[in-house]
Amino acid sequence: MDFVIAQPAQAFVPVKGSVAAFPVHRIYCVGRNYAAHAIEMGGDPDRDPPFFFQKNPDNLVLDGAFPYPTASNDVHHEIEMAVALKSGGNDIPLAKAMDCVYGYGVALDMTRRDLQGKAKDQGRPWEVGKAFEASAPCTALVPASEIGHPSKGAIWLDVNGQRKQTGDLNQMIWKVPEMISYLSGLFTLRAGDLILSGTPSGVGAVNRGDRLHGHIDGIGDLEVRVV
Ligand code: MN
Repeated sequence: MDFVIAQPAQAFVPVKGSVAAFPVHRIYCVGRNYAAHAIEMGGDPDRDPPFFFQKNPDNLVLDGAFPYPTASNDVHHEIEMAVALKSGGNDIPLAKAMDCVYGYGVALDMTRRDLQGKAKDQGRPWEVGKAFEASAPCTALVPASEIGHPSKGAIWLDVNGQRKQTGDLNQMIWKVPEMISYLSGLFTLRAGDLILSGTPSGVGAVNRGDRLHGHIDGIGDLEVRVV
């Protein structure tokens, strides 16, 4: 097929220990998947279940430099586990969901909190707050064939050497198979999809020059400079 303009580049994430990369199809994100974060955002984890939104594949940042975005004065860090899918489908049963997982990464769901807050107040979509340029820094993926499927372990984020976010993967309200099964009832999941699985409490603003260091036990470390 010839195209009338140059084809956009395929978004991808490197794979640790491999020269081959993981091509990215879609990025799904889970909102309010840790009770303490739901509470800090004004929600009630007993009454309001987690929910989904999306970022764009070309919002990924792989070089560790997060350019402070336009149109915001309140940009927040949200450290999250990324789940990469090697297969998908519709209405995937819970018992089959983990067969879809290729591997895991450490990611940031960077958020223009002021624009997100305005969108919430006005009942408008979240894209301006969530799906902006460079809003998804991510590490190389580590295959589940090497590390298994982490369901517990520390997840934390330091800003300039100070601990800001802490949690444990076992605190997720929706576990990974539940996210996959539920999402597959709303969308057709495909090989190449990434799911950012929600952030623990302690989110806060970043400034130019900040050094962010995120970590998830068993997966790795993400180091990002705000430029
Ligand atoms: Mn998030």
